[in-house]
Amino acid sequence: KVRVRFAPSPTGGLHLGGVRTVLFNYLFAKKHGGEFVLRIEDTDQTRYVPGAEEYIVECLKWCGLNPDESPELGGPYGPYRQSERKALYRQYAEQLVKDGFAYYAFDTPDELEVMRDQERINGNHSPQYNHNIRMHMRNSLTLLPAEVEELLSKNTPHVIRIKMPANDELTFTDMIRGDVTFNTGTVDDKVLLKADGMPTYHLAVVVDDYLMKISHAFRGEEWLPSAPVHILLWKYLGWEKSMPQWAHLPLILKPDGNGKLSKRDGDRLGFPVYAMNWTDPNTGELTGGFRELGFLPEAFVNMLALLGWNDGTGQEIFSLEELEEKFSIERVHKSGAKFDFEKAKWFNHQHIQKKSGAELAALFMPYLLGKGIQASEDKVAAIADLVKERLHFVNEIWDQGFFFFQAPASYDADAIKPKWTPAKQAFFEEWMQQLPGLQPYNFESLETSFKALAATREIKMGELQLPFRIMLTGGKFGPTVFAIAEQLGAGETADRIKKGLP
Ligand code: GLU
Repeated sequence: KVRVRFAPSPTGGLHLGGVRTVLFNYLFAKKHGGEFVLRIEDTDQTRYVPGAEEYIVECLKWCGLNPDESPELGGPYGPYRQSERKALYRQYAEQLVKDGFAYYAFDTPDELEVMRDQERINGNHSPQYNHNIRMHMRNSLTLLPAEVEELLSKNTPHVIRIKMPANDELTFTDMIRGDVTFNTGTVDDKVLLKADGMPTYHLAVVVDDYLMKISHAFRGEEWLPSAPVHILLWKYLGWEKSMPQWAHLPLILKPDGNGKLSKRDGDRLGFPVYAMNWTDPNTGELTGGFRELGFLPEAFVNMLALLGWNDGTGQEIFSLEELEEKFSIERVHKSGAKFDFEKAKWFNHQHIQKKSGAELAALFMPYLLGKGIQASEDKVAAIADLVKERLHFVNEIWDQGFFFFQAPASYDADAIKPKWTPAKQAFFEEWMQQLPGLQPYNFESLETSFKALAATREIKMGELQLPFRIMLTGGKFGPTVFAIAEQLGAGETADRIKKGLP
């Protein structure tokens, strides 16, 4: 049975890479009729940020990537928040000690500081607690068993560390990268259980993936260096046969391809990198999100899927259902994917085209109300239909169609006046009178009567349509003039002609 998990630490808002990790886990599960678990990895109390878990849950809902099991929903392998599983982990750490794969370390923070200083003096700029060091430190590999017993019986603060082999080759097969080989000497003796009894991420992730029967795990490439620790833990705990298949997802790169897209890049480069607005509760700092900018969740998800995957046919627009059906791990790229904001906007534009006017109106109403404008949803829906092909964001309905809701405050006079003639003046004065009598009043009758009168008065249509447009909208923009006039109604159209005449 395919079971995947998204296992975020609640340390802040979700950025593009995080949501793409959710997405690939989710798509893989759906594709294989499996289950998608949300597990909150909150064992590092120092990095815990209030509100982050709620943000993650809301983000998954917004994207439509609903888990089958989660802290909120529960499920057969709960609890799904690691802090609530605290009591569970110690036994595994102790079993590792008993089997000789881990050890108690009693070093005080001061002793560790001295060790780091000494290492730096030795020219080692990223000091590691590894086989070279551990023989000098205060731990159960250097102390006599009786000393260890005594320290433990006195409740001396201690951690449990994994004993990384000094120089072994370790190979595993990544679903995206193929065989990946590490030398175990490059990784230090990571802490598994902290002094406060909380497991570290390394222990908790292995224990929980095992207990929750996770079969496949997609996570960011940044976790690749930790893979040897996890693989050894699976072995050392005797669970090797149940180890999930790993897939380390390629990075999302800056638009110029120069390095990983970071959380800071959004503000710097003028586009969001977070899924939704995130306000850091400690600093009050707001980081903008795709949702608030006006991205449709289906466009956001589609865009993310194509950052590192394609179906091989050149198709780019997919609904979530299509992605669920077509996603294949074989077609995930090994190399990083450049993020292109213009392309992201294009995805949004494409998905906006699939929406009905009524759907767009529903999304736009709050913005309109925020502007203090009252309009019926039917009217807004008709307007949305008229302008939708010009939209990258739903809220641009305003920029593209503000004149539907309020008469122009000023006119592009230069575009009318120089070519103005008494004949044109007379045309509009006469046509204006015809408007209330048009039966029915619509695009066709407007166009027909306008054309007929222009012919009678021997004025070219083109010379009349631009001034008409400017009277209605204030400038040289907007959809077809007769569509605008139809929408405005006879009274308002006549009023605007009257007000707009030079
Ligand atoms: N808790 C880790 C994170 O915050 C999860 C890494 C993994 O999926 O193993 O990204």
